[in-house]
This record gives sequence, C-alpha cells and structure tokens, in this order.
Amino acid sequence: MMNVLDFFKNLPKKMCTQCGFEMVEQADCYGNVCDECNHPAR
Ligand SMILES: [Zn+2]
Repeated sequence: MMNVLDFFKNLPKKMCTQCGFEMVEQADCYGNVCDECNHPAR
C-alpha cells in the first residue's frame, strides 16, 4: 500500500496543458489547466 505523502512527493511537477505554466498548488482541483486558463470568466 502506497503512502499518500510519498505518492504526492513522487508526482512530477504539474503543468498546465494549455499554457505550460507550472502549477504548485491545488494539485487536482482543476484538472490539467492552471487558474488562468481555467478562469470561468474567460
Ligand atoms: Zn494555463
């Protein structure tokens, strides 16, 4: 069984699939796009 903290440590840095911006917070809330690309007003 995998330790959850180890699992997240081992994840590669998450990057926005639209602009390539490196995301460091909100690991899984917005899928693979950053706040800018995922902005509801855009
Ligand atoms: Zn983006």
